[in-house]
Amino acid sequence: KGVVHRICAGQVILDLSSAVKELVENSLDAGATSIEVALKDYGEEWFQVIDNGCGISPNNFKVLALKHHTSKLTDFLDLQSVTTFGFRGEALSSLCALGNLTVETRTKNESVATHLTYDHSGLLVAERKTARQIGTTVAVKKLFSNLPVRSKEFHRNIRKEYGKLISLLNAYALIAKGVRLVCTNTTGKNVKSVVLKSQGSGSLKDNIIQVLGMNTFNCLEPISISISDSCSVEGFLSKSGQGSGRNLGDKQYYFVNGRPVDMPKVSKLVNELYKGANSRQYPIAIMDFIIPTKACDVNVTPDKRKVFFSDESSILQALREGLQQIYSSSNA
Ligand code: ADP
Ligand code: MG
Repeated sequence: KGVVHRICAGQVILDLSSAVKELVENSLDAGATSIEVALKDYGEEWFQVIDNGCGISPNNFKVLALKHHTSKLTDFLDLQSVTTFGFRGEALSSLCALGNLTVETRTKNESVATHLTYDHSGLLVAERKTARQIGTTVAVKKLFSNLPVRSKEFHRNIRKEYGKLISLLNAYALIAKGVRLVCTNTTGKNVKSVVLKSQGSGSLKDNIIQVLGMNTFNCLEPISISISDSCSVEGFLSKSGQGSGRNLGDKQYYFVNGRPVDMPKVSKLVNELYKGANSRQYPIAIMDFIIPTKACDVNVTPDKRKVFFSDESSILQALREGLQQIYSSSNA
């Protein structure tokens, strides 16, 4: 059973960024307005996510990390319209299987917090009182240490995984309104550095200025493309001639209804049209697809990074026309 659990867990948690992503999404689901991601040695030693959300109530302590435990989806019919990031109850149970999980939490109904330790099968093995503000801290030590092959990969690729994580955290910092997001990394000699700091303003514009900087913002223009009666794209794109000479994949951020997702086809289209208008340049792009939840499915893969549109070709076509219009008017 242990082995099967570890194999399945490996499908939700593929790497450092998917692990941290699950924790950040749990914090957002808990209504946090402040989230700190702390890493030790780029996440290789441990990582933790500290939030000021609603906390976890004591009657959930025992079941929290068991497979399929979730407090979010009460009715299966809800699946069409899930608005929380999580609903499968797989993240914490997977993280238990793949590393050493501890949780510190306190709701508004408790006067002290509780520190909880779980074993690899998700069982609660230790519990003690501790001091903490309302909210939750989830910490994972030694991710993948019990999967020899994955562990070797993890250590070899740690800088790459770290880079991917920072770009993912940038995506959340850009799109989350009113959520303060900080990421720190503490390296071997206990030097702690702040690698991301966003105060969580109320607008995409101000988030861009905080996360990507004023210079970058000045090279962008707002875009709004109507795809159909019920679907549109809102965001920012490099102004004509102000793109980058290099294909900085990490400078393009795509979202569906505020969720960071991978959109290789859209990215290809954006690059192609931008290059057509401006020779040998790649644009920075921040694009949020606003689309009825029933017209798309972001839950096709366990890590929820891929989206599936029920009418992909007409969306791409409308996007192509919209982008062509933007480029032709800004080149005129
Ligand atoms: P899911 O998010 O799919 O419900 P998870 O395994 O990610 O499943 O989390 C299990 C449960 O633990 C959640 O449903 C929630 O009740 C609780 N939980 C996890 N993280 C937090 C957090 N940061 N704040 C409050 N509750 C949390
Ligand atoms: Mg979750």
